[in-house]
Amino acid sequence: MRNSKGLRPEFGGEGVANDMEFQWSRVLERLKTEFDDGVFNSWFKPLALVNVDEGCAVMAAPTRFMRNWLQSNYAERIRLAWSKENPDVTEIDIIVLSGFRSADKGSLLDNDERDEVEAGEKPRKKAAPAKRQSSSAARPSPATRVVQNNAGSDFGAPLDPRFTFDSFVVGKSNELAYAAARRVAENTAVHFNPLFLHGGVGLGKTHLMHAIAWANQQMFPERRVVYLSAEQFMYQFISSIRFKDTMSFKQKFRSVDLLMIDDLQFIANKESTQEEFFHTFNALIDHHHQVVISADRSPTDLEGIEERIRSRLGWGLVADIHPTDYELRLGILQQKANTVPEVEIKTEVLEFLAKRISSNVRELEGALNRMIAHATLIGRPITMEMTQEVLQDLLRANDRRVTIDEIQRRVADYFNIRLSDLLSSRRARQVARPRQIAMYLAKALTSKSLPEIGRQFGGRDHTTVMHAVKRIDELRQTDSVLEEDILHLERIFST
Ligand code: ADP
Ligand code: MG
Repeated sequence: MRNSKGLRPEFGGEGVANDMEFQWSRVLERLKTEFDDGVFNSWFKPLALVNVDEGCAVMAAPTRFMRNWLQSNYAERIRLAWSKENPDVTEIDIIVLSGFRSADKGSLLDNDERDEVEAGEKPRKKAAPAKRQSSSAARPSPATRVVQNNAGSDFGAPLDPRFTFDSFVVGKSNELAYAAARRVAENTAVHFNPLFLHGGVGLGKTHLMHAIAWANQQMFPERRVVYLSAEQFMYQFISSIRFKDTMSFKQKFRSVDLLMIDDLQFIANKESTQEEFFHTFNALIDHHHQVVISADRSPTDLEGIEERIRSRLGWGLVADIHPTDYELRLGILQQKANTVPEVEIKTEVLEFLAKRISSNVRELEGALNRMIAHATLIGRPITMEMTQEVLQDLLRANDRRVTIDEIQRRVADYFNIRLSDLLSSRRARQVARPRQIAMYLAKALTSKSLPEIGRQFGGRDHTTVMHAVKRIDELRQTDSVLEEDILHLERIFST
């Protein structure tokens, strides 16, 4: 960094560089009019002015990736903007300076985030968007199960000791994700970055991430491995703003060797958090530090996440965890049953459960745990009869429960359109009709209200849903092709 009388106070200089700052703000204004918002916010806004000296304006970008991109794509435009403001400037330079504060983040927060900053730690629940994933549902007594990981970090989440590679049962639906996870865990060299794991609720994403952390820590104890949910990332970011400590927030995240962020969908529509995530992500990838991300859907389907992030998420390896098949479910049950040798569980019972509880692994485990608890209490082996009785409610729910999410996926698949198009506001017939069909099925097959359905279809009004239901009802009478489609889809959901 050049050292001159014009140096910015923030970077250690003495003179108050009002002039320079003023010129810089004008340069930014110019660039803002020349580029659209997306480009401006992604590339120019994160820049900070360092110094203007001997005809050279020096700016800092937070990551090498951004610096390189700016150099190769926008250097000349930036130079021109400068020379119009200050004819003395004939040259520009962009350096990489990680961990600096590029702007007053407080003013960039969206409403949810601002609420959080103002309200303090407490009302976390209130601001959490409607999550389909109830993370507390089946985590049995975390206080006893979860121990602090030994990753030596004070900001990662604790790891569940049950979630290891040994206890993960591999089948067709998860073999790619498993192989990729092992590769990441057992190497320090980066083969694909990021590793992006996605799949529905309860299919083992969190399990795999914890397994990566455990294995990596064991093999390379000196590495800094950090696992946390996107929600925790957001709260830490927000609290760093509140305590005016964003610098150390940046530094600590950038010093990690392996960063894993779970349930990325949580930061949808949280603009500032996304921006911070983007910078952290770029910084780590620039330095060849491994990043692992999970979400409940693929990068392209992550509604509410900025395009620049979605596209970068797909640069490494994207591994999809599919719904389980019968064999995998049976394998998981057998493995869990083996961990309680004192309780006898008949094979036919395990087969029955694997067949009937197909929603997700978490529920499958819940069912088995309930059976084991029951058998232990009354001191009898687990039989078919007892299973039917104890699990009555669960079995019934599994018979008929279909989620809106599943309806949307299946309908999009069936009509061969993208899920994001189905949820978008596009009105083209080839997406609008399937969307109406999906709304119709959501009304018919779930107990959700019209407003609730509207919300899950990209925040639409309940009257839109009502209209769709009516329209499809009418069309079923007259349009035999559509009638066929609906019957076919209904069959899919009833099996
Ligand atoms: P997700 O994060 O995808 O919602 P989790 O990783 O929390 O799902 O998994 C839910 C439960 O199911 C956990 O208890 C996990 O151990 C178990 N589970 C999921 N997939 C497997 C598998 N392939 N083998 C063993 N257990 C599994
Ligand atoms: Mg999870």
